[in-house]
Amino acid sequence: MAELTRTHNIEEIIAAPIGTAATLMGWVARRRDLGQLIFITLRDRWGELQCTLDPEESPESHAVASECRGEFVVAFTGVTRARPEKEQREGPGGDREFIVQSAEILSRAETTPFVIEEEVKASEELRLKHRYIDLRRRTMVRNIAIRHQVVRIIRDYLSELGFLEIETPLLANTTPEGARDYVVPSRVHPGQFYALPQSPQLFKQVLMCSGMDRYFQIAKCLRDEDLRGNRQPEHTQLDLEMSFTTREELFTMGEGYMKRIWAECIGEELPVPFPRVPYNEAIERWGSDKPDARFGSEIREVTALWQGTEAAFVTAGLEEGGVVHGIFIPGLSLSRKELDNWTDVAKKLGANGLMTVETGGDEPKGSVAKFAPDIAAFAKLATEAEGTNAGTWCMVLGPKAKNLKVLGELRLRLGDAQGLIDRSKWAPMWVVDFPLYEINDETGGVTAAHHAFTNPLAADMHKLDSTDIDELLSIRADNYDMVLNGVEMASGSLRVFDPALQMRILRNMGLSDEQIEHRFGWFLEAYRYGAPPHRGYGQGIDRLVMSLLQVDNIREVIAFPKTASAQCPLTGAPATIEQEQWWELRLQPLK
Ligand code: ASP
Repeated sequence: MAELTRTHNIEEIIAAPIGTAATLMGWVARRRDLGQLIFITLRDRWGELQCTLDPEESPESHAVASECRGEFVVAFTGVTRARPEKEQREGPGGDREFIVQSAEILSRAETTPFVIEEEVKASEELRLKHRYIDLRRRTMVRNIAIRHQVVRIIRDYLSELGFLEIETPLLANTTPEGARDYVVPSRVHPGQFYALPQSPQLFKQVLMCSGMDRYFQIAKCLRDEDLRGNRQPEHTQLDLEMSFTTREELFTMGEGYMKRIWAECIGEELPVPFPRVPYNEAIERWGSDKPDARFGSEIREVTALWQGTEAAFVTAGLEEGGVVHGIFIPGLSLSRKELDNWTDVAKKLGANGLMTVETGGDEPKGSVAKFAPDIAAFAKLATEAEGTNAGTWCMVLGPKAKNLKVLGELRLRLGDAQGLIDRSKWAPMWVVDFPLYEINDETGGVTAAHHAFTNPLAADMHKLDSTDIDELLSIRADNYDMVLNGVEMASGSLRVFDPALQMRILRNMGLSDEQIEHRFGWFLEAYRYGAPPHRGYGQGIDRLVMSLLQVDNIREVIAFPKTASAQCPLTGAPATIEQEQWWELRLQPLK
């Protein structure tokens, strides 16, 4: 007998004229047995369609349908027919049914461990253990399909611009991205190990040295980091690098595919060009290097408004060198209890307390309103900043850096609680010129804030030989993050391409020449034979898809994710290995 051929998927049969004959194949999503008639909702990757099995049409098919249960895999041959007007449903295919003339069960199914429904009730653990069932849900199909579309758009776009997609090895040597390596023991070189790449950073830079000019890769990056909710031990990154390019050219390139993704995948407009915001400005205005600019309430210094106050704790704080910063939250009016709660939050974030002044009402309210020298000045500033004076100033007194940090976080929480965040808005930006170094808590010295291959800004280059930690910390780098709605999307920089400069930067990080030679000798050597100026970045695909679809859980956009404790419930990884493998690898099992 000839093999049965599927003629249409469900999307295609829904798009075809009513009366089209077809063979459909898929899963039994639902079955309703009305005795005389059986209705089966057939599901495939593209959709669902009601199929009708009428013994008068085909007694054999009706008999087959009587045997069918949920998730049986079936082939139905028949024809579409318009549903009577009053039985029509909303949504694709709701205007038609499929009259089955011949039916075949292709495979049977046991009762599934959980019900396949959009408002899934099963625990995440169970869903991941039976991920192949979970992936039958429409939301999951959509997420995976959009992810594919995102990657396809990126590939098309970058190919149009002359980028080459180049694979770099998985079995490699350690990459300095600041996380722990996953290592793979070598069987043929006992006692030696490969490291799985934390990123293709050094390879892509070497590719620039080889003249590839424009490289990209949809790369798996593996980082053995401490477990956190939305962290995965392996993540996928759009990794790219360009030679002979300006920062502006790179930004325009990045904005181009982002705009295309938003337009093609969700039909929304991402405003370009993205604002360019220096890191220092981001910290001053939003208290964060990844600002959520979907709402206002930016941080302001309001020390001047406290001059002449009679509040002893304020004057004492100011005399100690403290300053006052505040955010104005429109519409906020705090009860005594709410004030206590938010004060606790501010304290947990590191503030000494929370000072509030409510303006715009009949009389001034707030924890420190009676000490404010000039309430009208607060009201005026609120109107200037937010277009209204009805709301509350939330302020902290202390050292500037701490104030900004506390208010940055408080702004997000209060903005969320007050419903100030416009969820339909897209607020992208490039945050630029981050510090080159940060304090290494273990050594007290400095370490690379992004990674050690980042070029300092030309204007700050002269500070590189300083022995003063503060001066080193004030060096800005030619680096940038793409930020969207408060989430870091991409991170990259102009790279050092002068071997002598690279040595200075690594030495500042406390590495000895021997250590530099051992870890990066091969890489620095590549720079000696003609290295072009180059820059690039890495952009997390998982996060990009999460932002696009506005989902909070990273596991919703990955086909086979690990749990928050880095395990794969489907395959049972990580797992023990056979005794023989220990031996082959010359490894000792833990006693
Ligand atoms: N390698 C960097 C990272 O993975 C990105 C870059 O600088 O291109 O974060």
